[in-house]
Amino acid sequence: MEKIVSLCKRRGFIFQSSEIYGGINGFWDYGPLGAELKRNVKELWWRNMTQQREDVVGLEASIIMHPRIWEASGHTSTFSDPMVDCLGCKKRFRADQIEPKSGIVYSYSGAIDEVLAPQLLALICGHPAQNLTQKLLEDKGAILATVHEWLKHDDPNLRKIAHSLLDELKKSNQAQSIESYSVLLPEGKPRESARKMAKQFYQQRGIANSTLQGEDAKQTENDLNHCNECGSLLTEPRQFNLMFKTYVGPVEDPDSVAYLRPETAQAIFAQFKSVLEVSRQKMPFGICQIGKAFRNEINPRNFTFRSREFEQMELEFFIRPDEVVEAISGRIAKASEIGNQKSEIGNSDWGWEAWHKYWVEQRVSWYENIGLPRNSLVEYWQKPEELAHYARATVDILYKFPFSKRDEKGELMGEELEGIAARSDFDLSQHQHFSGKPMGVFDDELKAAWAKLDEGRKKALWQRYHDARLNYFTKTGVPAEEAAKQARDDADALAKGNYIPHVIEPSAGVDRLILALICRAYSEDQAPDEKGKLETRVVMRFHPRIAPIKVAVFPLLKNRPELVQKARQVRELLRPHLTVFYDEAGAIGRRYRRQDEAGTPFGVTIDFETLGEKGPELKDTVTLRDRDSMKQERVKIADLLPLLLEKVR
Ligand code: ATP
Repeated sequence: MEKIVSLCKRRGFIFQSSEIYGGINGFWDYGPLGAELKRNVKELWWRNMTQQREDVVGLEASIIMHPRIWEASGHTSTFSDPMVDCLGCKKRFRADQIEPKSGIVYSYSGAIDEVLAPQLLALICGHPAQNLTQKLLEDKGAILATVHEWLKHDDPNLRKIAHSLLDELKKSNQAQSIESYSVLLPEGKPRESARKMAKQFYQQRGIANSTLQGEDAKQTENDLNHCNECGSLLTEPRQFNLMFKTYVGPVEDPDSVAYLRPETAQAIFAQFKSVLEVSRQKMPFGICQIGKAFRNEINPRNFTFRSREFEQMELEFFIRPDEVVEAISGRIAKASEIGNQKSEIGNSDWGWEAWHKYWVEQRVSWYENIGLPRNSLVEYWQKPEELAHYARATVDILYKFPFSKRDEKGELMGEELEGIAARSDFDLSQHQHFSGKPMGVFDDELKAAWAKLDEGRKKALWQRYHDARLNYFTKTGVPAEEAAKQARDDADALAKGNYIPHVIEPSAGVDRLILALICRAYSEDQAPDEKGKLETRVVMRFHPRIAPIKVAVFPLLKNRPELVQKARQVRELLRPHLTVFYDEAGAIGRRYRRQDEAGTPFGVTIDFETLGEKGPELKDTVTLRDRDSMKQERVKIADLLPLLLEKVR
């Protein structure tokens, strides 16, 4: 990763945001090559998801939306991560990302200030309750604890004394702390390190010259309470909402609070009816969107993998509920019947399982198409206990990043690039509930099919749909009586051709994908330098489809005007159709290397043969160099454009 991060900066793929001011954690800028790469990837996704399909249309919605949207989606109440703080190094972590550690836990019950404590003891010993303070003299660490014990004592006299002692203690300016603290150290590390950290901790609590109290040491395994970096005790987890808050308009009051969207999907649901009306689509169909999303991640890490501002590419593909599919087709196709069908999409008997499988397959083959082979990806099916209550199934597509964890066999386990979720009718139902606007559709095919069903079928389908709706209402807290009524109404509406669509959601992150593509492309090999000596060559082996620059054009020598002029002509020939980089500075080998690092798949060199100086048969031909094989072939200038277009398509 270090090599990749440094190449990204050196070659202008990715820079730290606001770097001249020391950077800002979790934010990144894409440099000239990164911007082209990102644009290519988004363009290909857009083309694949909408322009090349009949059944998906696009949307570009605003980032800030009505705050009720996030109440409906559940983000206001539940979009949070558990957060812990390290009491030593002060770093902040997601509690669920703490790695279990083993070693020895050194714990302390508190600390006493060496200078102040004797004064304090003298103070207490001089008190009328002196005979009761003998215990304190024996155990200095227990001063405050004992006073607290007395505070609750049955004897009112003792309670009074305790109160006055407490006042004195307060006045005595932090002579001790009874806050417990601990440090986890790997076995073999000296106890003194733990003591040093503990003293620092109590110092921060105001005990300047601390004597540690009640030291204990215990062997531990799979501990999750101590910092993975410094070993210090962590705080208890607190929930932290990840949405960035802002105010709309000039007044900063609770009524003007709004959020930067944490995902692009919700706008699609909110505009579902408008898009349906204008696009003349019929069920099933999809709406897709590419755009920025913001999450105030507790611990941004792994370069751009977990950022606070990022881009998503999301599709909401709306489908008929299974009861509708069955009413229309008489059956529901099993997922196992759905092969890798590319031409025949969406038979009328496809229920949610078939559609879900179809989209997983589509997405994996898209990744293959842009240069992430299947064996670099993992299809992770979430376990039932990991699923959200409304989700029927979720598949995460993981990429085996260099920083991914390894399993017992030493294989990289992968990190999420995209989640493909079957989300039932939860989202549209929620927006219907919160906005009071109907989110259902009328399906004339259903109405016609329903009329032809026998009574038994009608009853069974009515019941299944009713039970599913009742389940939704109950789980979202609708009171029992009202839930029962609404479920009945919805099932009655089904019989008339109305229902709330279900949805399959493939949701991908652009930045994670860019990082995966960069990691995948990075390679080193050996290539001869100018003098024929082998040297290490860094090559970004991007698929030509996504490569930031498709072709580099070089005149062999800069100081030969005929070569330069011809090279510029070739550049002009290619530029309207391809991203071209023109470079005339330095030795040709060095220029090739620079393009290898940028991931440019093709290099075109204009040399003396091109000018016809080595014979008329080679006139107006150029050398075309392939980045990966480093093979060179002679190509007629006239053939160059179609040949290159073919290769980058
Ligand atoms: P994670 O569990 O890794 O936080 P998530 O399951 O919360 O991710 P989703 O809400 O499903 O992610 O978002 C869909 C996609 O958006 C993810 O697959 C990922 O590619 C991208 N994404 C989510 N959070 C971030 C982030 N902080 N930085 C970059 N990309 C992100």
